[in-house]
Amino acid sequence: MRLVAIKNITGVIRLRSGLHIGASKDNIEIGGMDQPIIKDPVTRAPYIPGSSLKGKLRSLLETSVFMKNPDTRKFVVQGSPCKCGKKSCPDCTIFGSHATPQECDEDLGPTRLLVRDACLTDEYRTLFVNGLLPMEVKTENIIHRVKGVAEHPRPLERVPAGTCFTMNMAFRVYEGDSENLLSYVWQGLKLIELDALGGGGSRGSGQVVFENLQVDGNPVDLEGIRAF
Ligand SMILES: [Zn+2]
Repeated sequence: MRLVAIKNITGVIRLRSGLHIGASKDNIEIGGMDQPIIKDPVTRAPYIPGSSLKGKLRSLLETSVFMKNPDTRKFVVQGSPCKCGKKSCPDCTIFGSHATPQECDEDLGPTRLLVRDACLTDEYRTLFVNGLLPMEVKTENIIHRVKGVAEHPRPLERVPAGTCFTMNMAFRVYEGDSENLLSYVWQGLKLIELDALGGGGSRGSGQVVFENLQVDGNPVDLEGIRAF
């Protein structure tokens, strides 16, 4: 399987609402809040892990696009990633198959999409370093059904709306790959814009927009991409 090209996908992820990508419980500071966001261990700057972005791309594509295909629908219904492992499956080809070699003997080659961690853009990194980008603490409650009052407040840390991160992905093209594979990535980004990143998406968190999207320096018009 011959590698033909590695396409460089760049862009800016702008937050339209506060973003909460939770840190593991191991990283909670003494006296800190119990729902902190993930931060760079050295600079303490917030970032979007590539795994979060890639995972969201994959799950949204599977639950929308792949529900239409009987071969892949069964995995989505089970709640697991697609593991058909077939060359004809854009999901397994782009993101990697979860199938063991015994289950499927087709050679998909390496995972096509590499999603790098998205760090603050230069502008927002400067603000952060100078103490001008404080993280938001949003309190969420449960409304008592009889009294109609908010109870059990839970502080949730979020990166404030408006903050921008630099997006960077690499897309490998192998000999024989369909030209449509890359368009699945655009479709996935469009689905994220219609959905959310991180936690609390159904309660307003994590609305994002992808700006200045380019592949190898050429603009990509996400507006013109159909999500479904
Ligand atoms: Zn598959």
